[in-house]
Amino acid sequence: MDPRKFLRLAALGLDEVVLNSNWAWMCTMCQRCVYACPMKIDIPQLVFNVRNRWPKDQQPKGIRGSCEMAFKHETCSAMGASEEDFQFVVEDVLEEYREAQPEFAQMQAPLDKEGAEFFLNQNSREPVTEPDEMVPLWKILHLVGADWTYGTKGWAAENYCLFCADLENWEKNVRIKAKVVDQLKSRVWLNTE
Ligand code: SF4
Repeated sequence: MDPRKFLRLAALGLDEVVLNSNWAWMCTMCQRCVYACPMKIDIPQLVFNVRNRWPKDQQPKGIRGSCEMAFKHETCSAMGASEEDFQFVVEDVLEEYREAQPEFAQMQAPLDKEGAEFFLNQNSREPVTEPDEMVPLWKILHLVGADWTYGTKGWAAENYCLFCADLENWEKNVRIKAKVVDQLKSRVWLNTE
């Protein structure tokens, strides 16, 4: 299977083949095929529509589970990390770097700072498995003097419900984060995903 075959099957009316092929779950929705297509057909939108037709309990467990896990806490973390988990890791890593690198002794990683210019999301993978990976961006924000904050709620950047074509939960995930941005009165929402 490839995007051209997928389209050809759809054009030939072979809906059952299209709907039952696992191929729809291989697409990353990168949109490169749209760029290459002389007719500019929105193939990832077709893929999205096919995924939307799949019963939830038959969707790939990793993607479906990550979509649902995001609602375990109000953090939106697909890895199930809580508000307390995130706060602990951020504060712990910040302290470690401030001590180890005196040139960054004044570096901040604010949580729930009201009125900050930027509200920053963070992919859960970093605080959960690679906490040091958060630091380069903190350093950049520090060096440019950016006024930013994380939220203890709504901090997780990822949203796997998009990849399940689960419109209801996709929106629910976005609205949880947007509510925190509004509550903290940040002007710009930065989502790194
Ligand atoms: S969106 Fe990307 S991954 Fe999906 S079919 Fe097009 S080129 Fe392939």
